[in-house]
Amino acid sequence: MRKYYDATVKFHKKFKMKGTNNEDMTFRLNLLIEELGELAQAVTKGKSRENLIEENIDLLNLILGNFVSLGISPEEIDEAFWKKHKKIMNRKKKKLKNGNFRVLEFRKSK
Ligand SMILES: [Mg+2]
Repeated sequence: MRKYYDATVKFHKKFKMKGTNNEDMTFRLNLLIEELGELAQAVTKGKSRENLIEENIDLLNLILGNFVSLGISPEEIDEAFWKKHKKIMNRKKKKLKNGNFRVLEFRKSK
């Protein structure tokens, strides 16, 4: 994580992103949507493994860039990751009415 985070900081510095639209979260959200669309195309069009990896890396780079843009440190990411991991590891996997499986926080309906 640290290596990827530092590389992302380097990228932001190289292209002088601080204080520009590049670190604006609304702009970044649009980039995420664009890249998610590219991943969706790669999946639905049966693109190569290499292409699937690349599109996921594009998303990973943007997520890391979000943390850098928001001034969130690697330590904070690490703590939040493990906190969430613990939470999701205690969830149950259930089969939904449509046949799909999900790992969710299921609540009893009234
Ligand atoms: Mg892409």
